[in-house]
Amino acid sequence: MPQIVELVLLPGERHDETALRQKAARQAALRPDQISYIEILKSSLDARSRQPVYRVRAEVYGAHEIFTPEPAILSGFKPVDGKKKVVIVGAGPAGYFAALELLELGIKPIVLDRGKDAQARRRDLRAIQQFGIVNPHSNYCFGEGGAGTYSDGKLYTRSVKRGDVRKALRLLVEHGAKSDILSEAHPHIGSNKLPGVVQNIRTTIERYGGEVHFGQCVTDFILKKGGILGVVTEKVRLADEPTTNNQQPTTEWLADAVILATGHSARDIYRLLHAKGIRIESKPFALGVRVEHPQPLIDSIQYKQNQRVDDLPAASYSLVCQVGQRGVFSFCMCPGGLIVPSATAPGEIVVNGMSMSRRDSPFANSGIVTSVEADDLADWQKHGVFAAMEFQSHVERLLFQAGDGSQKGPSLRLPDFIQGKMSADLPPSSYIPGLYPAPLFELLPPFIYKRLRDGLAQFGKTMRGFYTAEANVVATESRTSAPVRIPRDPATLMHPEVQGLFPCGEGAGYAGGIISAAMDGQNVARGIYVIAALR
Ligand SMILES: Cc1cc2nc3c(=O)[nH]c(=O)nc-3n(C[C@H](O)[C@H](O)[C@H](O)COP(=O)(O)OP(=O)(O)OC[C@H]3O[C@@H](n4cnc5c(N)ncnc54)[C@H](O)[C@@H]3O)c2cc1C
Repeated sequence: MPQIVELVLLPGERHDETALRQKAARQAALRPDQISYIEILKSSLDARSRQPVYRVRAEVYGAHEIFTPEPAILSGFKPVDGKKKVVIVGAGPAGYFAALELLELGIKPIVLDRGKDAQARRRDLRAIQQFGIVNPHSNYCFGEGGAGTYSDGKLYTRSVKRGDVRKALRLLVEHGAKSDILSEAHPHIGSNKLPGVVQNIRTTIERYGGEVHFGQCVTDFILKKGGILGVVTEKVRLADEPTTNNQQPTTEWLADAVILATGHSARDIYRLLHAKGIRIESKPFALGVRVEHPQPLIDSIQYKQNQRVDDLPAASYSLVCQVGQRGVFSFCMCPGGLIVPSATAPGEIVVNGMSMSRRDSPFANSGIVTSVEADDLADWQKHGVFAAMEFQSHVERLLFQAGDGSQKGPSLRLPDFIQGKMSADLPPSSYIPGLYPAPLFELLPPFIYKRLRDGLAQFGKTMRGFYTAEANVVATESRTSAPVRIPRDPATLMHPEVQGLFPCGEGAGYAGGIISAAMDGQNVARGIYVIAALR
């Protein structure tokens, strides 16, 4: 039996085989040459003291012990016969992981996405970044891999009870992610690696008999007697296709069940559900700004050193406080990352954060948001279930209209934001479309501005150095989670009123991040398997 050891490693020792072997040998009362293999089970960075250390739990195999890796999940996959098939709308983490799970259960998945494949999507991201042109079908939220592909790629989730986190991570590894993500306390992939992983998942889906179709935007549901029989898609015209007055061709996709995994930005899908009389509900979400500091400043605060320590990753932070009855908190912090324009339609300003696997940009950005509850939206209740969504869209459009029609980010230096005055100029930023000083204290809805102002002032006290004129505050961080929930039965995961319709992932209100969306996809696929078996 291997021994389990708990090791404390200096940053320089974490990836040094010799140091690891020596420390593990000492703990296991062996000589280094008596160790045949070390399996890292858990690794976390502890930066609470002046000398940050890695705390590592590992299995140490003696000379005559043989490490046997777990069999690959994919080794159990067999081609499906296609007798039972499920349409999955959305090729994000929820949709793709639902497809993998269905294949494992012998059911054929047909994945439909309005966007382009991960590679082709790059051109549209460049168009937003460089020319401010937002393609409503292919952007930072829409396209293969969904909002997760060109994201920060943090794989940490608090939703550990909602599903099999390890299975989701193992599947990512089996599709090309580094195996470190299985043991790191805060695993991360990065936007340079994620597209490859996502494309490998597509290859698996197709290899075992599933289908993936891009440029297919679901515009209608085929409903009959309280159940769903399939969906109708409109072919999305590619930028280089000639424009004609003819309607785009439509296709009907019939299936035994439909998984709706369209993400938090598919406003047309919420409207379609409502128009078809399918129950949806307004849901609280969070809205605010993105704050960007120089990364070396955050490193010096978090590592309590004057300069970045070699072998330590770009430092992050997590902040939360209460302002009146509401929380103000950091959201999707991206150390060594970039702020990106994440609008899904022309005429909106939406920002989010992403990073590369090395997290080596000189900037640290994070959403700083406050929760928006029904009580905050009295004036918006005339929009019924769309109250939160209309408010979200209104703020995004307002911030766009304050600008020059481009994707330039309205911004202020942090102290000016808090003091409610204009900045004469702005510090450097990672945001490629550029920033301009704008009166965010007037543009943001007053209740949002006041909470952010007070929350940021509190963060400046709790994290010394956070309050600095070197930090930019950029609007709008508004796509934190879905402003609408699509209800489902907690046991079957099916919509309570529409037989065969399975709301799934972040857009339905059951996930908030890559891994939780992936696990929700797996859960829904298993729900369908049970229902399908009952039929
Ligand atoms: C820039 C950015 C950075 C992020 N960073 C992180 C991070 O570091 N860690 C983390 O955990 N999460 C991060 N997130 C959030 C994460 O990406 C989402 O929580 C996750 O992708 C949700 O998965 P999903 O499958 O439910 O939906 P989505 O990923 O939103 O996928 C929905 C898919 O549905 C498709 N679709 C929508 N409407 C239609 C239609 N009518 N017809 C056909 N297809 C349709 C879209 O094209 C899209 O591909 C980030 C998000 C963004 C935008």
